[in-house]
Amino acid sequence: MDLQTTRKLANGIEMPIFGLGVYKMTDLQETIEAITKALQVGYRAIDTASLYDNEEQVGEAIRHSGVPRESIFVTTKVWNSDQGFDNTLRAFEVSLKKLNMDYVDLYLTHWPVEGKYAETYRAIERLYDEKLIRVPGVSNHHERHIEEVLKAAQTPPMVNQIEAHPYLSQEPLRAFCKERNIAVTAWSPLGRGGVLQDEVILEISGKYGKSPAQVVLRWHVQNDILVIPKSVTPSRIEENANIFDFELTADDMNALNGLNRNHRFGKSPENFHLYF
Ligand code: NAD
Repeated sequence: MDLQTTRKLANGIEMPIFGLGVYKMTDLQETIEAITKALQVGYRAIDTASLYDNEEQVGEAIRHSGVPRESIFVTTKVWNSDQGFDNTLRAFEVSLKKLNMDYVDLYLTHWPVEGKYAETYRAIERLYDEKLIRVPGVSNHHERHIEEVLKAAQTPPMVNQIEAHPYLSQEPLRAFCKERNIAVTAWSPLGRGGVLQDEVILEISGKYGKSPAQVVLRWHVQNDILVIPKSVTPSRIEENANIFDFELTADDMNALNGLNRNHRFGKSPENFHLYF
């Protein structure tokens, strides 16, 4: 395994298991520098969203990187106020134009807006049929949301991007997704930095001579969870990716799995009134 290791999704497309999250990067220069650094280090996946208001910067950074577009896996998402069938198709067109690309690798329903998310996903399926996206997916979907989406879908979602870190290990939802061949990506894989002072993590970190962030990211990868940690700091972009030269023992994995306390740093999919 290395930074460019991929995971085969339900339709055979290979998705890098490691990528850069770019939430809250809106400054053009900062975003370009972070993405350029990440691509230099070897990252081959970028996770953005229309909400992040940086799709133009992401597109520009990728074009200027010298790495071919086809070698980079680009994810974006339809925001809550754009959901429903027609709105989603329109929102996708805007995202594509901002990215200045002719396709997106993975397109996700950002949050399951009640009464709309099944229709939103139908539009994502349409985009998949039209080959404008390579992979259809969802984000922040619980079991009941996925079941609802599956009722109307011809092509099941292939990725579910959810909050996950040692304080929210999401074991039942991950098992549910695994049974349906839906890959799980962790957002806030470092708990936005909030798990990095944990005593158990610090102890394991000392044992391997790896930073707490590296231990946490390695734990995700060994649990078959794809990760998209965010940083704009060049040394951290490099540090986060440097997790392929050690392996956590079964005991250490168990100790980390045992830290779960169902604690969210973000909103819950059952209660997220994010302007829609
Ligand atoms: P994260 O867990 O990746 O934490 C990022 C923060 O951790 C950074 O801002 C920095 O302060 C700190 N950090 C990063 N590397 C570090 C290191 N090596 N050592 C110490 N501290 C370090 O949290 P995130 O940004 O919320 O999530 C990552 C990505 O997930 C986002 O950028 C975005 O792409 C995606 N996301 C998706 C959703 C969704 O609803 N689908 C929600 C939130 C985030």
